[in-house]
Parts: sequence; structure tokens; C-alpha cells
Amino acid sequence: MHNYNLVRMAKPTDNFERLPENNNDAPAVRRKRSLGYTTKFWENASTITFSFMHDVSDELKYRIELGIRKWEPFVSLAFELVENVPGMIRIALQGKDSYSFIGTDALKVDFNEPTMVLGTTPDSPLFDHTVQHEFGHALGFHHAHLHPEARIPWNKEAAYEFLGKQHGWTREDVDSNLFELESPHAAVFGDYDKLSIMHYPTTNLIYGNDAVGLNLTLSDKDKAFARKIYPALNYGQLPA
Ligand SMILES: [Zn+2]
Repeated sequence: MHNYNLVRMAKPTDNFERLPENNNDAPAVRRKRSLGYTTKFWENASTITFSFMHDVSDELKYRIELGIRKWEPFVSLAFELVENVPGMIRIALQGKDSYSFIGTDALKVDFNEPTMVLGTTPDSPLFDHTVQHEFGHALGFHHAHLHPEARIPWNKEAAYEFLGKQHGWTREDVDSNLFELESPHAAVFGDYDKLSIMHYPTTNLIYGNDAVGLNLTLSDKDKAFARKIYPALNYGQLPA
């Protein structure tokens, strides 16, 4: 039995995208490619502040920050943890689902509300994965399995049944999270990447045995795509 934790992307339409992110039997690495929306990317070279919605131990804060900063070498953005004021990205550890607004959609969220929720508990081996994945959404990246070249042989009935039973998703929830890319005309695509941190495991939800497992770290293509979206800054020639 696979134990999925939900991870979903919150969208400005309030139509949450939810995705099963965590699969305890993990592994086969597969990739799907990165994708995102131009209109939701942050301005390059800007500073993104993040904060916690409630008291979090220093140790846990540091661990989450480390996860967030896994992206840092591959973007030209500064990530700054702020205290006592709401960050642009506001993190809450609560509930069972994990989700994040995509990119600058976070700016549309009321200051009293989180823009990123981590439902995976810190004692889960999937916690660090979840932080990196959710922050990928916060940077504007979408789920890799929705890439048009993914061509995943979904067993739709199995997906409806499993996600309905395990997570209470409606067929519509499953459709919007697994099968249909919202606004594909507005999306920016990199290569399809089965190893992406933004890819869902497909184990038990497809026909055949070529399932994508749980990806625990940023893939090379994740890094390359992040760099493409947030390119290196050119400071010009330093004076001699
Ligand atoms: Zn996700």
C-alpha cells in the first residue's frame, strides 16, 4: 500500500490543485520536466521574504530554511527570513495536506493567511522533500507530471478510486491535479523531467510498470530550469 501525503498548489482562483506528493516506498527516480507560468515568476534579482505563521522551534526553522535554500544557488533571488512581520511567503505547519501558492500568486493572499502549508510532519522522511517541492511552487514552478510530453499512462479509474478513498478527492480534483494543465498556453516549458522534485510519484496510478517514484532532491533539470527562469546577473566588468 502506498502512503501518499497530499501536496497541492493553491491557485488564485481558489481552485486548489492537490497532488499526492509523498510515497513511502519511493524510489525509482523518474523525471518530469519543469514548467511554470511567466506571469507568476518573481522579478529576477528581487528579494523574497518568508516568515512563519506561528511559533516554530529554531531547529525546525533552520531545517525548513535549509530546504528553501536548496534552490538558492540556481536563481538570482535573495531569500530572507523575516520575524515579526509577514513575509511574502508565509509558512504554516498544520493539517495533513501540503500546498503552496504558485509564485507571485502569494502576493494576492491576505496577510493573515499562509501562502504555504506544510502538512507533512517533521518526523516524516518526506519532510525535506516536501519543503523543497512546495518552495518550487513558491518560485512559480508547476507540477512536472502535467508537462505535455509526460504522456503518463494514467489508470484514471485507479487514480479516482485511490485518491478518492485516501484523500477524499472528487473526480474533478483528480482531473485538475493529475491530468489537466491549467492554462497551458501561458505555461513555460523546459524538458520533461521524471526526476524533478516537482513530479508526483505515479506508482499504482498508471498502467504498466514504468512508474515514477518519489524524487527526494532537486534534479539537474530542476536546477537548469530555475536558472533559465532566474538567470545569472551580469555585473559587467569589474574595474581593474
Ligand atoms: Zn506540488
